[in-house]
Amino acid sequence: MTTEDMSQYPLRLEGDNIPMVRFANVRKSYGSLTVLDHLNLDIDMGEMVTIIGPSGSGKTTVLRMLMTLETINGGVIYVDGEPLTHMEKNGVLVPANAAHIRRIRSKIGMCFQHFNLFPHMTALQNCMEGPVQVLGMSKKEAQERSLELLDMVGMADKAGQYPSRLSGGQQQRVAIARALAMRPKVMLFDEVTSALDPEVIGEVTNVIRKLVDAHSLTMLMVTHQMGFARDISDRVCFFHSGAIAEQGSPVELFGAPKNERTQQFLNAVL
Ligand code: ADP
Repeated sequence: MTTEDMSQYPLRLEGDNIPMVRFANVRKSYGSLTVLDHLNLDIDMGEMVTIIGPSGSGKTTVLRMLMTLETINGGVIYVDGEPLTHMEKNGVLVPANAAHIRRIRSKIGMCFQHFNLFPHMTALQNCMEGPVQVLGMSKKEAQERSLELLDMVGMADKAGQYPSRLSGGQQQRVAIARALAMRPKVMLFDEVTSALDPEVIGEVTNVIRKLVDAHSLTMLMVTHQMGFARDISDRVCFFHSGAIAEQGSPVELFGAPKNERTQQFLNAVL
C-alpha cells in the first residue's frame, strides 16, 4: 500500500461556513474488498442527510466510521472542524490516539437498530448514566435534563419503567433521549425503525421529525423507509458500490432521479 501524502489535508477546517462533518477522500476496505472508495461528503451544521441504497453498498460503514467503530484506510474525517481520525503532530496529521478520538467523538450521538438500553436500569437511569458518569454532571441536573428529554420523546410517564416493560417503539424513543442527554452536535440514526413493528414506526419517526424541527442538530441517517427519507431530509445520498452515485434534495432524487442505478433502485423499492 502506498503511503498517503497527508500534507494535502488541512490540520483543521477554518472559516465561517465549515461543514459539521467532512469525509475527505475516505477509503475503507476489508482485505481485498473495497467498501468505500474515496468518499467525499460534507454535511452542514443543522443539515439532515439521509443515506439510501442497496444492501451492502456501504451505508452502515459510513456511520460506523464516524463512531470510530472502524478504522479507515485513507483520507481524513473531520467533525466540527477538527480531524476525528487524525491529530496534529509537528505540523502534520498522524493517526489519532485514543484520548483525541474520545474528545472529538463525544460530539456525536448514535441510535442503533437495536436500542441497546441497559436492561437493569429504568428509562430515567438509562438517560442519566452518561451525563453523570462521563460528563460529570450532578445527579440533580442530569435527572432534570433527562426528564425534559423523556418528555420531549413522549416518555415522561414511563421514566420509572425498565426496558423489558416497554414496547420496541418506546425503547427506541428512550434510546433517542439517552443519546441526546450527552449533548451531541451530530446525531446518527442507523435503521432505527427496522426492528420495529409497523404500527409503532410512526412513534419513532415523529420523534425524529420533532427533533429536526426543534433543534439545530446535524443528523445523518441510514434508512430503507423511503417515505420517511423523503419527508424529513434536506438531502438524500444514494450509495452504490461504496460511492455516492447521486445526491440531491428529496424532490430531485425521488422525483427525477438522473442516475440509472438510482432509478432502478427506486423502481424496485417504491
Ligand atoms: P449497507 O449498510 O449498505 O448494507 P455495509 O456498510 O454494512 O453496507 O457493508 C458494506 C460491505 O462491507 C458489504 O459488502 C459487507 O459485506 C462488507 N462488510 C461490512 N462489515 C464487514 C466486516 N466486519 N468484515 C468484512 N466485510 C464487511
